[in-house]
Amino acid sequence: MDPFIARQHMVDTQIKARGINNPRILKAFLEVPRHLFVDEHLKYRAYDDNPLTIGYGQTISQPYIVALMTEALDPKPEHKILELGSGSGYQAAILSRLCRDVYSIERITGLASKARNVLDELSYFNVHITVGDGTRGYEKESPYDGIIVTAGAPYVPEKLIEQLKVGGRLVIPVGDRDIQDLKLITKKEKGTFEKSMGGCRFVKLIGKQGWEE
Ligand code: SAM
Repeated sequence: MDPFIARQHMVDTQIKARGINNPRILKAFLEVPRHLFVDEHLKYRAYDDNPLTIGYGQTISQPYIVALMTEALDPKPEHKILELGSGSGYQAAILSRLCRDVYSIERITGLASKARNVLDELSYFNVHITVGDGTRGYEKESPYDGIIVTAGAPYVPEKLIEQLKVGGRLVIPVGDRDIQDLKLITKKEKGTFEKSMGGCRFVKLIGKQGWEE
């Protein structure tokens, strides 16, 4: 199938059909060629309604989950966003269409360089990838308007709350190794407000304020 038609079908049947209607977000999903973010032998499945392996025991998330987390983050054109877990680079690519800058941290060097190559090929130069442990945040560019964590955490790393602006949003799956609760946390003048968005299943967030390897 022609990739654009596959994307249109993905947006209609997986994203819009499940209640995500924000026109800017839908436009980003139509625009970003998801098939470039998966390995050659999986390209024919790139627009399927499920996650796919990207090597190193990691995954590119299901399109609907990427859309749901993006909607929860509520990115605006002037925003600076931090992502933990660049993986394939797809979530960062979607965000790059919706905000000013995306700082994305990935612990696996091989994935970070693969993601960088695809993003360069697409000229998505407002995505800045760094190799390291994202559970420490990325202080250099803080504070952020929003932070998105695309791996399952045992608890909310305190550095992430510290590096968020007041009014900023943190989207993070928190739970045990098998199943997590997707949380939307908003930073207030004093403390935070937390909302549960339902169950999800992510690979582990490994690091100082995450799971042990
Ligand atoms: N956002 C990715 C995408 O669009 O393809 C999917 C991310 S995948 C589900 C989770 C990623 O988090 C993996 O690539 C994994 O190596 C990375 N990861 C796990 N712990 C991390 C940490 N402490 N810091 C940075 N990356 C981490």
